[in-house]
Amino acid sequence: MADGGKPKAMNIAIIGGGIAGASAAYELADRAEVTVFEQESICGYHSTGRSAALFTECYGDSVVRRLAMGSRRFLEEPPTGFIDQPLVRPRSLLFVGTGPQQPALAASLDEYRSMVPTVKPVTADQARELCPVLDPQAVVGGILEPGAMDIDVHALHLAYQRGARDRGARILTDTAVTGLERTDTGWMIRTATAVHPSEVVVDAAGAWADRIAAMAGARPVGLVPKRRTAFTFRPPEGSSHERWPMILDVDERWYFRPEGVHLLASPADETPMDPCDARHEEADVALAIERIESVTTMSIRSIEHAWAGLRSFVDDHRPVNGWDPEADGFYWLAGQGGFGIKTSPAMARYAAGMILDGSPPADLDAQELGPQLLGPSRLREDQRP
Ligand SMILES: Cc1cc2nc3c(=O)[nH]c(=O)nc-3n(C[C@H](O)[C@H](O)[C@H](O)COP(=O)(O)OP(=O)(O)OC[C@H]3O[C@@H](n4cnc5c(N)ncnc54)[C@H](O)[C@@H]3O)c2cc1C
Repeated sequence: MADGGKPKAMNIAIIGGGIAGASAAYELADRAEVTVFEQESICGYHSTGRSAALFTECYGDSVVRRLAMGSRRFLEEPPTGFIDQPLVRPRSLLFVGTGPQQPALAASLDEYRSMVPTVKPVTADQARELCPVLDPQAVVGGILEPGAMDIDVHALHLAYQRGARDRGARILTDTAVTGLERTDTGWMIRTATAVHPSEVVVDAAGAWADRIAAMAGARPVGLVPKRRTAFTFRPPEGSSHERWPMILDVDERWYFRPEGVHLLASPADETPMDPCDARHEEADVALAIERIESVTTMSIRSIEHAWAGLRSFVDDHRPVNGWDPEADGFYWLAGQGGFGIKTSPAMARYAAGMILDGSPPADLDAQELGPQLLGPSRLREDQRP
């Protein structure tokens, strides 16, 4: 106990300042001394700054979807003082399919509806009313998720960083962690210029999370970073594209969506890579154009801007959020794949609950989100619950 009988604040080092690290810092800093280590000069340099920014309750398996549902309230009604502008805006999501994809549409409708009752089937004509460039020769129908939303990722990420600092957290940019050593009381975190003691290490290093674990002497969880390409282009003249839903192939082979005055598109590629500063390849952009032109009346002639980012997955495509059972004081916050923005509020609250209270927040516990589903042991054959 500290002077005056107050419990001494736990000292926590978070490695990685993307959405995972920043949101965890915000949730932890109220009751702990938090330092975030970020190797880049800005925290959103990697995956967080390269996302497509959609909130959907239909994408991912039931665990990912429960985490999205557990994040919705925070995004729609952030806590007082967190931000003075909306973090989300309505943007429905329309899954579409061609003739051969009719079985996939039927199966997906049942799956989506089982958790999101507002999801509904749409005919080809209804799909074209929502997005007139869909080709009547190709698209036979779709599934509409009316409650999907655009997330202002930049605003959310900045608000988490600002909120964490207001609560006393330190965010050190240009500060790569180069080594981790276990001591009697916790960890020594080594950077190029200093050594920082900490009781707990939170591994929120995105594509590098397994590398951080190796530094700590912890076993990897089998994280595979996968490159995803995105680009923007001008919509057809005179189209009211701002009102279109996001349009996603029901088998996730391509998508496009409004992005300000442009449309943002992707071939939904998943190319495994080592952790790196991912760059797009022209062939992936060309593939997206070919696929999108085959189901729309659009001719995509010139690209405004193209980029790529890494979406990092473990084997079961669920995030890893929990204590490592072998490396004392080492907490995993990794494997956010293609859902790390939309699930960040629930993921961060869950991590704070596990680290500070030893249990998940009540609302996530009620959704049966616990160590069996989220912890690292499920990914190691000899540790499976
Ligand atoms: C094209 C694309 C579209 C996407 N669309 C969506 C979407 O619509 N909705 C959604 O929810 N998600 C989406 N995602 C996924 C989302 O972007 C990621 O899940 C999320 O950004 C992961 O956040 P993170 O903080 O784990 O990783 P990152 O943002 O990569 O942050 C990890 C940080 O750790 C730092 N780091 C690594 N090693 C060290 C070290 N040794 N020392 C210090 N710092 C270190 C890195 O520099 C990095 O900044 C998309 C991703 C891409 C690429």
